[in-house]
Amino acid sequence: APPPPPKHIIMLPFMAQGHLIPFLELAIQILHHHPIFTISIVNTPLNINYLRSAIANRPSPPPSQIHLVSLPFHSSDHHLPPNSENTDGLPFNQIIKLFHASTALQPPFSEFISDIIAKQLGTPPVCIISDSFMSWANEVATSFGTVNYTFTTCGAYGTAAYDSIWLNLPHRNLVDGGSHDEFPVPGFPESCRFSISQLHQYLRAADGEDEWSRFFQPQISMSLQSNGWLCNTVEEIEVFGLEVLRNYIKLPVWCIGPLLPTKMLKGNTGLVGPRSGKQPGIPPEKCIEWLDSHPPRSVLYISFGSQNTITETQMMELAKGLEKSKKPFIWVIRPPIGFDLKGEFRPEWLPLGFEDRIGKQGLVVHKWAPQLEILCHVSTGAFLSHCGWNSVLESLSQGVPLIGWPLAAEQGYNAKMLVEEMGVCVVLTSGIHSRIEKEEVRRVIEVVLDGTEDGKGEAMRKKASELRELIRASVEIKKGSSYKAMSDFVSTILFGFK
Ligand code: UDP
Repeated sequence: APPPPPKHIIMLPFMAQGHLIPFLELAIQILHHHPIFTISIVNTPLNINYLRSAIANRPSPPPSQIHLVSLPFHSSDHHLPPNSENTDGLPFNQIIKLFHASTALQPPFSEFISDIIAKQLGTPPVCIISDSFMSWANEVATSFGTVNYTFTTCGAYGTAAYDSIWLNLPHRNLVDGGSHDEFPVPGFPESCRFSISQLHQYLRAADGEDEWSRFFQPQISMSLQSNGWLCNTVEEIEVFGLEVLRNYIKLPVWCIGPLLPTKMLKGNTGLVGPRSGKQPGIPPEKCIEWLDSHPPRSVLYISFGSQNTITETQMMELAKGLEKSKKPFIWVIRPPIGFDLKGEFRPEWLPLGFEDRIGKQGLVVHKWAPQLEILCHVSTGAFLSHCGWNSVLESLSQGVPLIGWPLAAEQGYNAKMLVEEMGVCVVLTSGIHSRIEKEEVRRVIEVVLDGTEDGKGEAMRKKASELRELIRASVEIKKGSSYKAMSDFVSTILFGFK
């Protein structure tokens, strides 16, 4: 008799580093739970190359049952510059084109599934796990008689707010649209109000007919038709957010996070190893050496993630504030708004003589830093972050409090939760239109690193350490909530719902 067809899982991440990285980690962890599966991760050629290098760069090779599958995609067919298949190379105002272009993958994706079914003598994949931004995969799954799970690479609170605000546009009921106006969000308790300043500029202007609404409203609606959701979070750290999310989407939610290298969750510092296919602007060993020369919890790490960037004026003021604070820092610099994101670093983005003056006080890293190594190091005391969810989880898993500067997507909601629910963050400012002042930068850094202003910094650090312990406990074999959720998810794929 021929061997039984493989239990094939298909994964479809969105084309951004913050999505590719957790998807790969998800594939690895599913296989650690059960080696029976074959997992194909499907994407465009450039993103498959990123994943291929990410796999090659890993300190230990991932399970061989992971296959990478490239679908044909030409960014120039979608009015995008050549080789623009990931948000990391696109200015923000062009990212929406990439979102719309991603739906062009549906026909080749369907063809790929139908080839698999033919190869497996009529047996469909056991499931398709699609990104919450690629929910058209739900139609494909249904048409081939298989099930579809949505994987949100964001947290529960952020996802619930993001989805509800896009679907309902509740801020449109406000009369004057001033930046301090607050509004309730369907699904959230009346008392938990959101404000215009937490919304990205494109969302502020959305009316249901614009190009952002035309992408997000149908994708979010379709994700609500899937069979269940995986969320890169931990039950115990997002109790409120999960209650809201579950009530809102009315689907099973498995919290299987944090999708981070195991080494990071065991209190090991040192080399964690790269997770993306990107080359860091500094060798991780050099970064560690630099951090070794600073006292525990003294260094501020600054990064705005893989796709966002601030303006030249904001960068200047941030630099002056850092200099004034006299605190050691590592700052990942990507070209400011308006400059070619793939271009080289230009000294004129920083105050004249900045790098000479700061000397050992600061380490300026170009474009991409070994973030995990930095956050795992005892010398790192705080993270000035755009509050992208991966960065948040990475920081909290090490007990590092945050200074928030949300820029896009659901980052403003993450920052709100970090402040109001978790008490581990101070928001410095938000967006690219705000005026930041060097004095304010210095003040906030001191609050968090020195514990000025009634020991607020100390309280934040304590809360962050408590969250670190909850996160670490969640992955404990057989006992932790995330471990159990993953086991339950795997048996649901294999045997259906209990
Ligand atoms: N990252 C990194 N080095 C950098 C910038 C980002 O390793 O210089 C990684 C970071 O560790 C995280 C991911 O890229 O895993 C960024 O995801 P996040 O959700 O924080 O933000 P996004 O880039 O999606 O806005």
